[in-house]
Amino acid sequence: MGNPKAFLTINRKEAGYRPVLERIEDFGEVEQTLNTEDRMLQASRCMDCGVPFCHWACPLSNSMPEWQDALYKGKWQDAAELLARTNNFPEFTGRVCPALCEKSCVLNLQGVPVTIRENEAAIVERAFQEGYIKPNPPHTRTGKNVAVVGSGPAGLATADMLNRKGHCVTVFEKDELPGGLLRLGIPDFKLNKKIIDRRIRLLEAEGVVFKNNVDVGKDLTTDDLLGGFDAVCLSTGAGQPRDLPIEGRDLEGVCFALELLRQQNRLVRGVDIPVEERIRIEGKHVVVIGGGDTGSDCVGASVRRKAASVTQIEILPMPPKDVNPNTPWPLYPNILKTSSSHREGCTRRWSLATKRFLGDADGRLTGVEVTDTQTGAVERLPADWVFLSMGFVHPVHEGLLDALGVTYDARGNVAATTASKTSVDKVFVAGDAYSGASLVVRAIDSGRRAAQAIHTYLKNS
Ligand SMILES: Cc1cc2nc3c(=O)[nH]c(=O)nc-3n(C[C@H](O)[C@H](O)[C@H](O)COP(=O)(O)OP(=O)(O)OC[C@H]3O[C@@H](n4cnc5c(N)ncnc54)[C@H](O)[C@@H]3O)c2cc1C
Repeated sequence: MGNPKAFLTINRKEAGYRPVLERIEDFGEVEQTLNTEDRMLQASRCMDCGVPFCHWACPLSNSMPEWQDALYKGKWQDAAELLARTNNFPEFTGRVCPALCEKSCVLNLQGVPVTIRENEAAIVERAFQEGYIKPNPPHTRTGKNVAVVGSGPAGLATADMLNRKGHCVTVFEKDELPGGLLRLGIPDFKLNKKIIDRRIRLLEAEGVVFKNNVDVGKDLTTDDLLGGFDAVCLSTGAGQPRDLPIEGRDLEGVCFALELLRQQNRLVRGVDIPVEERIRIEGKHVVVIGGGDTGSDCVGASVRRKAASVTQIEILPMPPKDVNPNTPWPLYPNILKTSSSHREGCTRRWSLATKRFLGDADGRLTGVEVTDTQTGAVERLPADWVFLSMGFVHPVHEGLLDALGVTYDARGNVAATTASKTSVDKVFVAGDAYSGASLVVRAIDSGRRAAQAIHTYLKNS
């Protein structure tokens, strides 16, 4: 610990966001960066606590105090190496992680935690810039072949870890490019897709093979999968969205959130989407149902697409603003979260249950009828588009998972032992397909665990 009193003398300083009026005109990342001196000073605020709750809260068990110290002392390469020991992709978590670590930072007792997430992003970006991160393929190969199905953060982490052990890894992805929800769910204004491309190039240079546009179970049969590989990791995500089967659900204009977000991510990449398939939001009233992160991403996308109004509704009451006695420090607090998208212009409403969708004679959505769960009052919100953002129930069963015959748990996720092993011989599972919809950081952790289990299995088989 370089400066034991820095937490007393140096204030928390966030890099902040680009001005609203500027950022809503494009899909560039909204978050800014601090200069090097300020960044190192921010790292000096780490108190190197005897019990580092940040480390405890991080699913990856990142060694925050160690790399804050290295960063404070300007030892960027050491910091990057310490970070890479526990986190395969700090450039993703450094941008999109809700930073469970910061909520548990002892300085958060005063509401001014160390800027751990931003520091992480700064370290990894510097490491790429200075060339500390370069292809490091294994010296020898084991001759074992592993198929990873799904290229989200869980699949990428599994592939990375197994490739380092010398196994030959092929990642199959049904979409046109790897990345999973990083690529086609999370908007560019939170995560620029060049960041994913850079990591994929590195993994390829290290020997991981990517096969895109392959829907495993359809384009590659389960017999070919099980026959052609010594082990398989299912990292197919939790792709089954929660539906709202009420009156008017079939009206034109009621969509799942990912229909908007996948299209938007493709548009930003320059994909030519036929005009008749485009979700045309300009000048329209948008209602986003679901108060979580996916809903917030729909808000940001709709604002950038120049909606006439954007309203986000949530069935639960508004959570407390600052402190929630039910989730005291060092737990992750269940309090009101206001994202950068919320600050760009939307109305947030709480305690509203959606009763039915209203439409015109042509079958086109015109509004949403809602009831206030506290007062019983009924209200009609004008809506040309509704984006259903109420989470995901479990992985998609039809196709690959049913064809393999894996067992599901009570929630419909792929059941597995603690060693990530499913009920089918040589088939393992990682990420949201196992846990249900969660976070990037948890998906990476799950991928690392599955890789360890697969490596042990391959060694013993
Ligand atoms: C809109 C949105 C925003 C989010 N924002 C954040 C955030 O800011 N921070 C955060 O931490 N988390 C966020 N999350 C959650 C996070 O993205 C997920 O928890 C994480 O991506 C899960 O990783 P995964 O690898 O398990 O699955 P996924 O990322 O879902 O990847 C699964 C991949 O498997 C592929 N696949 C499925 N079936 C097959 C098949 N049969 N053959 C071949 N490929 C197949 C899919 O096409 C997909 O690419 C967000 C989620 C959404 C939906």
